[in-house]
Amino acid sequence: MAVWKDRLENLQIKRVKIMAKTQMPHPGHDKHLCYLNNLGFQISNPKEYKALVKNGEYFCKVCGRVAAKEKNLCKPVKL
Ligand SMILES: [Zn+2]
Repeated sequence: MAVWKDRLENLQIKRVKIMAKTQMPHPGHDKHLCYLNNLGFQISNPKEYKALVKNGEYFCKVCGRVAAKEKNLCKPVKL
């Protein structure tokens, strides 16, 4: 588990450098599936992405994606 978290951190650090001037629509959006999808995270890190959606317990009211943790969605609704 620690490995993919590290990779996610690295990805976010890289992203912060690229997107330094882009404002996040709300706090924690850098960990939301819609944002990660935009980065192509599910393509570059399918294993890590699976870990986020596996055993999904919440869906996003905005985009309909499912995640195990509410912190990975913009508007989480418990399934
Ligand atoms: Zn969001």
